[in-house]
Amino acid sequence: MTSRLFCGVGELVTCDKTAGDESLLGLIHDAAFVVEQGRVAWVGHACGAPAADERVELGGRAVVPGFVDSHTHMVFAGERSAEFSARMAGERYTGGGIATTVAATRSASDEELRENAARLCAEAARSGTTTVEIKSGYGLTTHDERRLLAIARSFTSETTFLGAHIVPPEYAHDRDAYLDLVCGEMLTACAPYARWVDVFCETGAFGEDETVRVLSAGIGAGLMPRLHANQLGPGAGVAIAVEFGAASVDHCVYLTDDDLEALSTSATVATLLPAADFSTRGPFADGRRLLDAGATVALATDCNPGSSYTTSMPFVIALAVHQMGMTPAEALLAATAGGAQALRRDDIGRIAVGCRADFAVLDAPSYVYLAYRPGVPLVSATWRDGERVAR
Ligand SMILES: [Zn+2]
Repeated sequence: MTSRLFCGVGELVTCDKTAGDESLLGLIHDAAFVVEQGRVAWVGHACGAPAADERVELGGRAVVPGFVDSHTHMVFAGERSAEFSARMAGERYTGGGIATTVAATRSASDEELRENAARLCAEAARSGTTTVEIKSGYGLTTHDERRLLAIARSFTSETTFLGAHIVPPEYAHDRDAYLDLVCGEMLTACAPYARWVDVFCETGAFGEDETVRVLSAGIGAGLMPRLHANQLGPGAGVAIAVEFGAASVDHCVYLTDDDLEALSTSATVATLLPAADFSTRGPFADGRRLLDAGATVALATDCNPGSSYTTSMPFVIALAVHQMGMTPAEALLAATAGGAQALRRDDIGRIAVGCRADFAVLDAPSYVYLAYRPGVPLVSATWRDGERVAR
């Protein structure tokens, strides 16, 4: 059994409130930590570090937990730069372009889909992400949804069945028949490859009763609920998510006081997707209001070819600080421990004894630089399960 000591850590962000300065981020300056068998075995001040078989000197750099990107749609084919251009020339985002990606995805081979997802996962790792969630939702036939989830499964255990992404064009005049399919044969075929069930609960996608129906069926098949809601306008999505005990409700741009109250008194995490708000020129979700109300907030990329084509969690952190009223500490916590909570995981999102040794080394003296130097590639190395996976 080989142990490895990481030393010369100028600033260690543990996201463990019982560690270091006992602040939100549990900061330790002049820190070190030991990794054994892919897990964190010791954390503390460098002066008290135990002996180890190997030593990695980090030269005063800051180390943060690997980012937990709890909301992506990384298995797809094609791209939508023309739609993006049109939107930037004044067209409004409605979610209608999803059908374009569905058509491209259905006609792509498994190999093309796998290569595209691998490229995006590698890109995410280079910017410090160590865990991704991946949804289906661009197949929308039993065969295609199952194959998307099987491909997603080869990259992550956090896979989500999103057959209720939109009603595909061939069912445009028979929504009920599509819902029968999603809650029946498609769910049965997909459930073995998924951990979660999700619905795009929004005007133009799926309504209140339809959302309840799909979540209930998913739970019946052994999946855990999460939801896309309140992105493009107010709606019942947040209330439904809380009622179903969803791990997370994602977007949360349009929230009433009742929604806020429901989120702040439940275990449902509000996952904010600032890169989607940015890329659609929509209003930004009000992170400050949610945090002040006592809600738990996560940040994720929503990586998809239509409304948020980025894999960069540092970019998301910078947007949350600059546009959502969050402090750099709150944004980093939301991108790590918050994402872990949105996936109901306690082995990731922190650098603490027993957790997976997932972390990013920054070419900066402090985590604050993630927001202070937006757009700059600050991640010098990413480690997952104690192994270097990028740079
Ligand atoms: Zn999404």
